Amino acid sequence: MHAFAAGNGDGKEFVSHAPGYWSGSGGIAPELWNDWKWQLKNRVNSLAQLEQHLELGEEERSGVLLSGDKLALAVTPHFFNLIPRSNPDDPIRRQVIPRVEETWTSPYDMADPCGEDSHMPVPGLVHRYPDRVLFLVTDRCAAYCRYCTRSRVVSGVGDQELHTDFEEAFRYLEQHTEVRDVLLSGGDALIFSDDKIDKLLSRLRAIPHIEFLRIGTRVPIFLPQRITAELCAMLAKYHPLWMSVHVNHPRELTIEVNEALERLANAGIPLGNQSVLLAGVNDDLETMKTLVHKLLICRVRPYYLYQCDLINGSSHLRTPVAKGIEIIEGLRGHTTGYAVPQFVIDAPGGGGKVPINPGYILYHDNEKIVIRNYEGKIFEYPEIGNESVQFAPQREYHDEYLYS
Ligand code: SF4
Repeated sequence: MHAFAAGNGDGKEFVSHAPGYWSGSGGIAPELWNDWKWQLKNRVNSLAQLEQHLELGEEERSGVLLSGDKLALAVTPHFFNLIPRSNPDDPIRRQVIPRVEETWTSPYDMADPCGEDSHMPVPGLVHRYPDRVLFLVTDRCAAYCRYCTRSRVVSGVGDQELHTDFEEAFRYLEQHTEVRDVLLSGGDALIFSDDKIDKLLSRLRAIPHIEFLRIGTRVPIFLPQRITAELCAMLAKYHPLWMSVHVNHPRELTIEVNEALERLANAGIPLGNQSVLLAGVNDDLETMKTLVHKLLICRVRPYYLYQCDLINGSSHLRTPVAKGIEIIEGLRGHTTGYAVPQFVIDAPGGGGKVPINPGYILYHDNEKIVIRNYEGKIFEYPEIGNESVQFAPQREYHDEYLYS
């Protein structure tokens, strides 16, 4: 076990914070600390536990009291150790400690911003794109993110419940031969036992037209102890199996997380990262640059940077879209291409992910394209004058185009 880091720092280094807040009264045995079930059983999930360790502001105290019927509070000891005792603006703290602003409603807020419920042919199976599905296998996670897109069902305390019908979902997948890609998410599938994940993956692998399996998970970050050698060996039976992890701030990449990601990569699992752009968390270029560089060291390819969905009670965490464009502009060309994620907006109402890029095309017709590079220099590239080439539609904006 590593010594508790002296400070929380800027996140450039990989540090360990264990056992941190759990070092008092004789401390905690390393074998317990490293046991993922102990981590889950000992999650911080009450106001009293929070107050034992942190100096809470009024906004946080009210947020905790009001969060009980919206999205549960739960933070693993591992992740909780990343939170400093006395800074309510800390970027880790803002992600997992409820604030009273979650009870505010903005006119744009939605319960289901990605329109998943209306694209669910079978309970728990979202079929929104032609050849792939999202399989919501559980409503539970290792810890809960205050901006969760699925907070309407996740954590089990809100109005809506997730009732995934596994047998019906498997039948649907067997019949829909156009589905070649299944993404397991929730909630977080890695919260299940090895045996349950094994059965789920083997059932999916038995469907011949399913080529590609993916797991979307924040467990390696919230609960790196879960990424055991046994789990990795079991997952490796189901290749091609890819994994999207979810890291928003470089401080989340601790020594333990780096080691967990290494175990997954060594099991042959290609790793990508999905970050959500969040105000006061990662909405500046230097933080994002540190994050993407650390991800590459962990053998994780930055995949998506999401504009925060219009989820109920998240307006205090949302940033201007221009901030995301500015960050991509500051990365593209200035650092390794592999380090640059695709910035996307998940179109409100169920339109899917739409890439949002800085404007590198200045002019384009059948004779030439005029482009600018990362330094702002202008270049021309000749077109071959083929009249049959279809340019992407550049429509004027009219209200009636709005998806409804
Ligand atoms: S881990 Fe994912 S599903 Fe769970 S609360 Fe966080 S964003 Fe939502």
